[in-house]
Amino acid sequence: MLEVKWVGFDYGQCIMEPGGLRNPLVIGDICKELGRPELIADRIYRYHQLNEQYGGYSRIKEGHRDEIYGYVLDDDPAAQELFTKKEQQYLDMGEGLVDALDWLQEQGFVLEVVSEMKKTLGAVGSDIVSRFLKGRGLTKYFPVIISPQGKLDTINDVQIDDRYVGKTKEGGDIYDVLAEDLRSRGIEPEEGVMVGDKPATDINPAHARGFKTIQYKGFIDLGPSDADLVINHFSELKEVLRKKD
Ligand SMILES: [Mg+2]
Repeated sequence: MLEVKWVGFDYGQCIMEPGGLRNPLVIGDICKELGRPELIADRIYRYHQLNEQYGGYSRIKEGHRDEIYGYVLDDDPAAQELFTKKEQQYLDMGEGLVDALDWLQEQGFVLEVVSEMKKTLGAVGSDIVSRFLKGRGLTKYFPVIISPQGKLDTINDVQIDDRYVGKTKEGGDIYDVLAEDLRSRGIEPEEGVMVGDKPATDINPAHARGFKTIQYKGFIDLGPSDADLVINHFSELKEVLRKKD
């Protein structure tokens, strides 16, 4: 049992599951909608190549997203925009997530998303994480996203804390700022728990800074980590977390 006040959730392969995007037909759909069916075969072939090179769509998405835009979609802005839209339709939520979030909110835990969101184009709030949270009605649980782009207010689409800008999960410095931020709100790092799938970004650097950590393996098992606990389904959060007064 972990007694905490704050719960930070990773985005990719945690609250969001990219299972539907394993299917390369999404690339075919895009070409059709753009009125360029002659590009389908080539682009699907390139998508397959990336999949093989990196070992699956999940891994492309983690660090090689640019190559979908550049290599597969020929840096065509219309195709990129359509991919971002389609992608939203193909994304799933982790099983049992909403029920767990309802419970966590009822208990009075502070909930925030901590995402390694890469550089985004366009206005604050148009990034993929914000779009996902809004599209699935999750902003009522997650009023902010903490990311290397800053701390984003998901309701008003504004960046509200510059200290986070340029800080990363992998580098760990985002958790230094987070610790400072939470302390100023009366929460010590050990009163916070980070939930995520990836040891190198969600678990080990947070653990090293005194946060409690839970490795979520419901979508993918990325191997051993320093996590205090491992869960395979979000419903387990109700059994392992208790709200600290
Ligand atoms: Mg992740």
